[in-house]
Amino acid sequence: VPPERIRNFSIIAHIDHGKSTLADRLLQATGTVASRDMKQQFLDNMDIERERGITIKLQAARMLYRAKDGLDYILNLIDTPGHVDFSYEVSRSLMACEGALLVVDASQGIEAQTLANVYLALENNLEIIPVFNKIDLPGAEPERVMREVEEVIGLDCSGGILASAKAGIGIDEILESIVATVPPPSADAHKKPLRALIFDSYYDPYKGVVVLFRVMEGELRPGDKVRFMNSEAEFDTDEVGVLMPKHKPVDVLSAGEVGYLFASIKSVEDARVGDTITLAKRRAEKPLPGYQKAKPMVFAGLFPVSADDFNDLKVALEKFKLNDAALSFEAESSSAMGFGFRCGFLGMLHMDVVQERLEREYNLELITTAPSVVYRVTPTKGEPYMLDNPSQLPDPTLRKCIEEPYVKLDIITPEEYVGPLMELAVSRRGEFKDMRYLVQGRTTLVYEMPLAEMVGNFFDALKSRSKGYASMEYDWIGYRESDLVRLDINVAGDPLDALTCIVHRDKAYSVGKEYVKKLKEIIPRANFQIVIQAVIGTKSIASERISALRKDVTAKCYGGDISRKKKLLKKQAEGKKRMKAVGKVEVPSSAFLAIVNIN
Ligand code: GDP
Ligand code: MG
Repeated sequence: VPPERIRNFSIIAHIDHGKSTLADRLLQATGTVASRDMKQQFLDNMDIERERGITIKLQAARMLYRAKDGLDYILNLIDTPGHVDFSYEVSRSLMACEGALLVVDASQGIEAQTLANVYLALENNLEIIPVFNKIDLPGAEPERVMREVEEVIGLDCSGGILASAKAGIGIDEILESIVATVPPPSADAHKKPLRALIFDSYYDPYKGVVVLFRVMEGELRPGDKVRFMNSEAEFDTDEVGVLMPKHKPVDVLSAGEVGYLFASIKSVEDARVGDTITLAKRRAEKPLPGYQKAKPMVFAGLFPVSADDFNDLKVALEKFKLNDAALSFEAESSSAMGFGFRCGFLGMLHMDVVQERLEREYNLELITTAPSVVYRVTPTKGEPYMLDNPSQLPDPTLRKCIEEPYVKLDIITPEEYVGPLMELAVSRRGEFKDMRYLVQGRTTLVYEMPLAEMVGNFFDALKSRSKGYASMEYDWIGYRESDLVRLDINVAGDPLDALTCIVHRDKAYSVGKEYVKKLKEIIPRANFQIVIQAVIGTKSIASERISALRKDVTAKCYGGDISRKKKLLKKQAEGKKRMKAVGKVEVPSSAFLAIVNIN
């Protein structure tokens, strides 16, 4: 197939507007995946993603499509992850395309991610095809939503398509529109030295790292020695192919095509998303623009419940890292928790996914400490440095200032929730910047807010205060000085360094109070009294007591009901597994995350 009959596109949408369902339909309609092999949502191929209904890792699929003009076309669908933690990967996959389907739920309208994704697509000069999905729903108002997209984004919707991915309506129109509207890749680029953009890479235990890329210029053949221009690593290519979506080897991939390679690469670190592939023998002068190193935004400690598992955790993290260049970790020791790792994540979702997969795939039991952002500390003597572990914040007398990361937050909400959402934003130290009428009945709120206030349950709070109708996006804007203090927690006289957090001075009292109250509920009674204290410096600002235990738990079981007694003991034992002995006190793992829900 000549380059003028290649179309590279992706699908952008707000979460739940139907991206994955539409992708499935396109694969089916083009016969790429036979109906009988069709698992729901073929592209979201990780269990966790499927459970959570979100796409984390992007994947690609090549479809052959015979258009109404009688010619065969190659349609390369490059899927994008649907979460703000992974916006860098989204931007790289859009850069690999000439067009995008913008899917908007016709029963909802524009949401925060719709806008963020459209702006990314426009920045990359993509041709955008609006698709108004879910028209099968009785509440669908495609005309209204179409006007919304025209008004707010300024996108011409005359070529927009009314569709139902679920009911299979509008699928042929979408395929025809891709052929007619999305420009083909430039035709003369195959003579230049190779430059291919990596939009995904993952570790396969048999093949090593599988690299997915778009050839922007030049050609690549199996056996070629490739060079990754940013990592400067070189490898002999074992196999080059296309994604159908299963691997299918080919003899050559030319400018405009999308494919994969493997070359016995041991770690995704060597072939990261955004890097440029060239040939070792005939190198391109410059890598493609826009490469970024992964920048972890959220840090937390990961500790094994049982100290014997430390080495297993180390091995698991090392293995995990082969497949996740964005994860960072280094060994950490905590007086309360023993040996573990301080890990850096792109965001909260990334953190949840890593923890869950470590537990599931490596059979580890872990305790995650409350996540923290990265602060910038200027000591009284010496250079400013970055600090990701609250328990290492030096005493106020030893520092000149401390700065914290800020984000610009865009919220889109139906009018009636503006009040409660403004309250929420203020309670999270948000600085009001702007309020705009978006379309009839809906408003955009703009705030600048410390990232630390969003880590944790901000998104849930936003959803619950708007009955699920508000959506949000945020963008990093830089560091600002704040009046922050270190809040320590003592349990039975022992400092629990894993619970130390950094909070704004104005909130320290209420956070400390809530925290000790929560710990009182969580920590089981012992046969002595336990005092829990929240402390700033040497000053206790809040405390609670857990009175000593008098009775044995099994005393609750009456009449020699053995099976009930056993059950109770077993349940207790299971609960115990997730406990960490701190000094004399058993602290359940949930205590370490409780602070997230207060902050
Ligand atoms: P994504 O988050 O954008 O990938 O959205 P999904 O494809 O996972 O779809 C989200 C939900 O909307 C799922 O429950 C789908 O079954 C449903 N859905 C997707 N497309 C349609 C449609 O055209 N009509 C209706 N009624 N439901 C749809
Ligand atoms: Mg999806």
